[in-house]
Amino acid sequence: MSAYCPTCGTQTAAVEVDHGAGSVTCPSCGDERPFRSLPLHVVVGASGTGKTTAWRRVVGTIDAAVLDWDITTFDEDGGYGAHLRELADGPRTGFWLRLSANLHRSGVQVVLFTGAVGPDEIADRPESRYFPTVRYLALTCDAGTLRERLRDRRGWEWARDEGFPWADLDLQTSINAAYREAAADPDSPVTAVDTGERTPPEVATRLREWVQRGLG
Ligand SMILES: [Zn+2]
Repeated sequence: MSAYCPTCGTQTAAVEVDHGAGSVTCPSCGDERPFRSLPLHVVVGASGTGKTTAWRRVVGTIDAAVLDWDITTFDEDGGYGAHLRELADGPRTGFWLRLSANLHRSGVQVVLFTGAVGPDEIADRPESRYFPTVRYLALTCDAGTLRERLRDRRGWEWARDEGFPWADLDLQTSINAAYREAAADPDSPVTAVDTGERTPPEVATRLREWVQRGLG
């Protein structure tokens, strides 16, 4: 009962979850059922900060489902990607949160590699109540490195031509700067790893250590 109440038929993500008690309550009829939740680990970063490189190195090497949000972005011509790119940011985020919570119900830890999603956007989603805590690791680099990587990226000309935000150099540079600023705030839930200063294996090691601390 995280999306549909079998007792009264209500469909809502805005259920009441008591993480301490391990229960979920339907906001319409008050029906209460067991609910298993786990902390969610979210990897964020502007385009060009090395998320895909890190994902490839980490997936399959830790005891967690390491999910790649880009599967709802990229696909061959005529595939589902063109349809899913039409999704607004909010529903897309909600889908991934719901999928992560569904894996948590089976006891599977989740490391969710996203795009440029901020803690506020996730906190604003009703699905965020499925998690006792959400942790953020931001992959960042200096602005010059970022612009160089994005300019050299093969196969993205079409995305720049069509005006997709994830291929916009100025926008991604400002998102990267915002993550660096957030991580510098000790009260922020964001931790940053600079991928310009580290090799891909070093970044992967940092990422694994960050996940492990969250499981501790
Ligand atoms: Zn109900």
